[in-house]
Amino acid sequence: MIDILSLTKNELGDILAEYGLEDYRKRQIFSFVYKHFVDDIDKITTLKKDVRDLLKDRFFISTGRCTKTTYAEDGTVKYLLKLQDSNKIESVFIPMKNDRNTICVSTQVGCRMGCRFCATGKMGLVRNLDTSEIVLQVRYIMKKHSLKNANIVYMGMGEPLDNYDNVVKSVKILIDEDGINISRRKITLSTCGITPAIEKLKEDLPYINLALSLHSAADEKRSYLMPVNRKYPLKEVMESLKTFPMPRRKRITFEYVMIENVNDTKEDRKALLRLLSTYKSKLNIIPLNKHNLMNSGLNPTSNEKIEEFAGYLRNKGMFVTVRNSKGSSIKAACGMLATKV
Ligand code: SAH
Ligand code: SF4
Repeated sequence: MIDILSLTKNELGDILAEYGLEDYRKRQIFSFVYKHFVDDIDKITTLKKDVRDLLKDRFFISTGRCTKTTYAEDGTVKYLLKLQDSNKIESVFIPMKNDRNTICVSTQVGCRMGCRFCATGKMGLVRNLDTSEIVLQVRYIMKKHSLKNANIVYMGMGEPLDNYDNVVKSVKILIDEDGINISRRKITLSTCGITPAIEKLKEDLPYINLALSLHSAADEKRSYLMPVNRKYPLKEVMESLKTFPMPRRKRITFEYVMIENVNDTKEDRKALLRLLSTYKSKLNIIPLNKHNLMNSGLNPTSNEKIEEFAGYLRNKGMFVTVRNSKGSSIKAACGMLATKV
């Protein structure tokens, strides 16, 4: 049995052709699965009964089984979804004004990148998510909240570019005009900086938004915080980003988790200024979340000091935002997801 959520429209078309079905059926199916959110092939009413029966023998539509829902006061909702093999992942709905509702999806159970400040990293990698398991998170939340559109951020559990093929395929399904039809500019993929994968992404998914988890502009310090930097040093990653095809007027986001006395000093802000001066960039400062990290020895920088740091860079002409940790009260802020440690 094939899960429809694991297929791009063209892959679906190819399989339908093997069964002697017309090519346009793939559009009918995509529309019912991704616009009307049906979970049951019998509810695809534009298909005749004999066609539905044929499809039912070979396909199914997977749905998330939510085992826990947590609500924060600010409206953020975290869903704990149980997968077929009982592994659990977390997906987050972040309500925003002006059609900017955001869905944060996971791409792996755990992560093997081992960043020092990250709860997911502490789990190690359990396994990659399938394409369908990434897509079902979006479908689940859109259906639940009756959304027609959303920003999708690949910032949940896992490193998206360490699960390259499934992640790319999931984006292709989400942006399909016969399906959910999310614009590329509403999709953001956050990565710790796997250079060869970024290079490939230029071919496979140009014009989506990239966010680089930077966390330090100094190579040594970055390696201390993020072991991946030893394999793919900052210089190479930054070089690769320079030629990433971007939507017009868009900026590359650099994420910067602020850690007391580690990356919040005067030298750090100078290094940032130097590194980012030639980029059309947006620096997104994230206050360190301490949940699940009690023994890491890392502490958050005070809000005052964060504002001073941000103010300095703004005065020098940089575009800087400080993330208000929406959902942090329920451990749902992106980057602090871990289902078991
Ligand atoms: N693996 C990807 C995407 C998931 S993490 C990446 O690293 O970019 C999403 C963001 O949350 C990253 O910028 C990550 O560095 C940040 N993050 C991780 N742990 C955090 C913590 N304890 N507090 C605040 N942000 C954290
Ligand atoms: Fe993995 Fe991202 Fe966490 Fe690093 S910050 S361990 S890359 S999920």
